[in-house]
Amino acid sequence: MTGSSGAEAVVVRVDRDRCIGSGMCALSAPESLALDADGRARPVDRYADGGAELTDGLAEAVEYCPVEALALHSAHGGYRIAPAE
Ligand code: SF4
Repeated sequence: MTGSSGAEAVVVRVDRDRCIGSGMCALSAPESLALDADGRARPVDRYADGGAELTDGLAEAVEYCPVEALALHSAHGGYRIAPAE
């Protein structure tokens, strides 16, 4: 468990083969996701490795990615949180 809120730390994974570079996730969750030089999304460092707090913006980004290229996982244990399988 990391952070002071007691909330479960999460990481976000990007399926870069699916990502079409719409940029929606980087707009709704700029603290968690950014666009690479090739125009596709990538998690910012703490959401790629180690994990950080799940924000409303990140949950929204995962839910609304138009090609379902984003997935939330527990930073500890690795199980998938969203979207549901
Ligand atoms: S919302 Fe989905 S398709 Fe758009 S940049 Fe983010 S991961 Fe890629």
